[in-house]
Amino acid sequence: MSTLSTHLLDVQQLGVQFQTPDGLVSAVNGINFSLDKGQTLGIVGESGSGKSQSVLAMMGLLASNGRATGKVLYQGKDLISMPTPELNQIRGNRIAMIFQDPMTSLNPYLTVERQMTEVLEFHRGMSRKEARVKAIQALDAVKMPEATRRIAMYPHEFSGGMRQRVMIAMALLCEPDVLIADEPTTALDVTVQAQILTLMRELQRDFGTAIVMITHDLGVVAGLCDEVMVLYGGQVMEQGSAEAIFYRPSHPYTAGLLAAVPRLEDGDAPMLAIPGSPPNMAKLPKGCPFTERCAMALPQCGTVRPAFAPSAHDATVQRACHLPLEEVTHNLLRLKAQQGVSA
Ligand code: SF4
Repeated sequence: MSTLSTHLLDVQQLGVQFQTPDGLVSAVNGINFSLDKGQTLGIVGESGSGKSQSVLAMMGLLASNGRATGKVLYQGKDLISMPTPELNQIRGNRIAMIFQDPMTSLNPYLTVERQMTEVLEFHRGMSRKEARVKAIQALDAVKMPEATRRIAMYPHEFSGGMRQRVMIAMALLCEPDVLIADEPTTALDVTVQAQILTLMRELQRDFGTAIVMITHDLGVVAGLCDEVMVLYGGQVMEQGSAEAIFYRPSHPYTAGLLAAVPRLEDGDAPMLAIPGSPPNMAKLPKGCPFTERCAMALPQCGTVRPAFAPSAHDATVQRACHLPLEEVTHNLLRLKAQQGVSA
């Protein structure tokens, strides 16, 4: 069914629940964002914050005990309520996904050629010969050396960086409108990470693809994203323009993540870390999920859920925190001073 939306992708109140032996667990609670052609959203947070489950829900790929709620409108059509045959015409075609570890996503028994041509035969009705030509072009586009020869190889014959290039080439075969990249550079060394990010920027520039980039690494989203959503315990802590989130974080969790990014100028100073571990999703506090780890928590934080509302100083940023913005900034500077780290 079509719903009125002017955006290419419009996610409204997306939620994810899992039926577990401990009862119903809410992994994602009411996230909202929209994307238009050529825009990039970064979804940031630690492991278990709900980043990957959000996008798996968007693609109809949740585990069998999972259930998605809300709406994911692609060109006005809701993917969540869409019958599977219709959804199969969109995923891998108009919306494509790159996973963290290409070795577990590529089929080890099939050559890269077979895996790539199959996509084009299914979605574009191409002959095997036509599909092979297009697949080689896609490998060339991701700067795969000797694509004509390498397309006949199996995934294990490629290095990690080259396998990720194969995954990106596969995702781009049908020139998708939306590319979802789930930690695409986590398994790679920093040099290859930089190459892959440059490649994604170039592809976005050339094809106008909208990108959803999931990462726990704020450095990765810095140069790529227009908007950033910070997730913790399945809830959005802060959301706004990348510039505002990076330079003027207004939430203690975002500030903690940013403070934990190592910087050359800090020299031998101890690295900052957010103490504690991500919460047990089956036992979240009634109030703010970050309460147990928050150095700035107020008495009401554990019992009263903070509203997700525009920041007092920047209406383009929304945050969920009881603490006034000035106090977040002030406390952050104080904590850094205590730990001997430059502001
Ligand atoms: Fe910390 Fe309270 Fe703000 Fe949560 S609501 S981030 S516990 S100050």
